[in-house]
Amino acid sequence: HAKASGRGGVVLFESQMLVEREQRRSLEIDLKAAVRNGDFQLFYQPLIDAQTRKITCFEALLRWDHPSRGMISPEIFIPLAEEMGLIMPLGDWVLRQACTQAATWPEHMRIAVNLSPLQFRNPSLMTTIMNALATSGLAPNRLELEITESALLSTEERNTEILNSLRQLGVRISMDDFGTGYSSLGYLKHFRFDKIKIDKCFIQSIQEDDCNAAIVQAIVELSAGIGMSTTAEGVETAEELDFVTKQGCTEIQGYFFSRPLTSKDAQTFIDAQT
Ligand code: C2E
Ligand code: MG
Ligand code: MG
Ligand code: MG
Repeated sequence: HAKASGRGGVVLFESQMLVEREQRRSLEIDLKAAVRNGDFQLFYQPLIDAQTRKITCFEALLRWDHPSRGMISPEIFIPLAEEMGLIMPLGDWVLRQACTQAATWPEHMRIAVNLSPLQFRNPSLMTTIMNALATSGLAPNRLELEITESALLSTEERNTEILNSLRQLGVRISMDDFGTGYSSLGYLKHFRFDKIKIDKCFIQSIQEDDCNAAIVQAIVELSAGIGMSTTAEGVETAEELDFVTKQGCTEIQGYFFSRPLTSKDAQTFIDAQT
């Protein structure tokens, strides 16, 4: 049986690979053009104070507005931009755009920007951030940089230097997707973050999964003990909200309060609260 279908299977597999390679090539060509033309848009998702239920911050989330394919997810094109050496110009644009937008909001609201590990290690990062702050007039303490555990894999010394330089600029640093990467509790000791974002995989299915609940509880206690605040990501239901609030999470982010919004809709969301 295996033999009979084998040939056909192989042929199908090869043609599929060809199609995939073609699709990828055309996506690469399009991405290059998109960076040149600026076919990107930032969406903004609110983070809400667990106690007061007020907006504390918005996270900037990048979208590629593709001329024929529509909105493309960052999960697809960020890795591509990293491989193609396009993440620096793209990341620069995100930082400038995000700071400019945030400067129009009430002063107690911050903006969170995701940094690729490649941006984090790039020597031009400090200049980019200083320029984004200077041209927008945004106070440095209103900018939060979200980095993932994978950004901290290289030599510890260098990472500490980068984090210290960032701190000297007066910006805040968050550990994103905490618990999904190469988490080592040692990170928390060596690099003092302002905030830990608990990955949504631990929040969702909290109801059915005692293990997730125990993990969230432990992260919140640990963070509080070393003076870091916590954000629960991916809160979608009233039950999840209730649980993470009771656990003492500082902030909530998720579809329960809002999906990522256009700048216009973010302003409407702000106006509804103020
Ligand atoms: P992230 O930084 O962990 O962002 C949170 C992701 O969770 C966002 O996906 C957001 O839309 C989604 N999310 C928020 N609330 C909920 C919820 O209640 N349920 C569910 N199912 N999902 C929720 P998005 O916008 O697709 O972004 C995916 C990832 O792409 C981000 O994960 C981040 O790692 C990366 N990314 C986005 N924008 C940028 C950027 O400007 N630069 C870089 N380097 N990476 C970015
Ligand atoms: Mg993030
Ligand atoms: Mg995250
Ligand atoms: Mg994520």
